[in-house]
Amino acid sequence: MSTIQDKVIIIMGASSGIGEATTKLLAQQNAKLIIAARRLDRLKAIKEEFPEADILIQQADVTNYEDVNKVVELGMDTYGRIDVIFNNAGIMPTAPIVEGRRDEWQKMLDINVMGVLNGIAAVVPIMAKQKSGHIISTDSVAGHVVYPNSAVYCGTKFAVRAIMEGLRQEQRENNIKSTIISPGAVATELYKTINDKNVSEDLHQAQKEWGLVPEDIASAVVFAIYTPERMAVSDMIIRPTTQPI
Ligand code: NDP
Repeated sequence: MSTIQDKVIIIMGASSGIGEATTKLLAQQNAKLIIAARRLDRLKAIKEEFPEADILIQQADVTNYEDVNKVVELGMDTYGRIDVIFNNAGIMPTAPIVEGRRDEWQKMLDINVMGVLNGIAAVVPIMAKQKSGHIISTDSVAGHVVYPNSAVYCGTKFAVRAIMEGLRQEQRENNIKSTIISPGAVATELYKTINDKNVSEDLHQAQKEWGLVPEDIASAVVFAIYTPERMAVSDMIIRPTTQPI
């Protein structure tokens, strides 16, 4: 199976930014989509924009395994298989470590790391049985390099990279592809999750000066999905051309 049209694709964190842009691009290509996030009104608005498309919506918090499993069950009940899951939900409340924002650290670990693991746990047994499947997670340039005021966020994205590589090694014989998409700065609502005023201003400025648009990343996700059975994209780092880090 190689056309997007035939694929059953789950997108976690589909209500804005990269997830929303990816949903829209795939809807235009007639994929069978199951989209999820916490903001149901946003998911409904996306579905209404594409009345002809096969889009199922499900409210889900990725930190809650039962929620994630419901999304996967909706896909299985409707189509009897899952071809792709895009673990894209994430937050970035970055700040210097000295500020000790333990609640924000916990939230980042829960959403950025456990959220990805919950998505993986819910689909791997199904894909292993199918002897085919594709797990894509949104990593970051921050999953490859560390920079000041972002230690914990970088830690979550390094973790995603390690987990996805381990997944690749363990599940390659079941024909399951593992892909991380690693963007640099992209203009999205992610920057609103930063509560430290100074860090927020710096990063907002950087994103405005040279950030990509979510559609740039969506096109990379679609490329990775479009690859033939024999070909797996492990990692795509996509920086704005002028980004220094
Ligand atoms: P947005 O804030 O626009 O999108 C984040 C998405 O994640 C939303 O759909 C949000 O939905 C969802 N989300 C957050 N928390 C949860 C949760 N607990 N359960 C379910 N969904 C959740 O930002 P981006 O599009 O930029 O972010 C997408 C991914 O891209 C993230 O993993 C981010 O780390 C990564 N990234 C972004 C970069 C950038 O510069 N923008 C650079 C590198 C990586 P809702 O709030 O409705 O639940």
